[in-house]
Amino acid sequence: MTPNNDVRLIGIAWRLDRLRWMPSAVLANAVLRDGMCMAASQEDEPAWADEPMTDRELAARMCAGCPVQDECLELDLRVAGESTAGVWGALPEDDRRALYPHWLQRGERVEGGWAR
Ligand code: SF4
Repeated sequence: MTPNNDVRLIGIAWRLDRLRWMPSAVLANAVLRDGMCMAASQEDEPAWADEPMTDRELAARMCAGCPVQDECLELDLRVAGESTAGVWGALPEDDRRALYPHWLQRGERVEGGWAR
């Protein structure tokens, strides 16, 4: 299945519509306050932190149960767009790049536009 007709990504893009009018500063505050990876300190590093794994595996482990996955993903799509890197919003960068055109197709966001 190509990224252009990936039903899963289209579904995620639709789901993010609920955050369309939420200011980026509010999203950022939610991620900084409630993001599971934000709360972790060096001492709290999980046992699997040094295991070799793909970005997809890392996203699944690091973001599992994070209460602000959608806020994190919406913010990254707005700020980084296609230049995204690493793991954000429970997705590896390849998935976010494939998601980006679907997200763009959903239309305008708050603050006058899309990412960049
Ligand atoms: S979704 Fe993942 S990257 Fe984003 S704040 Fe939560 S744990 Fe961190």
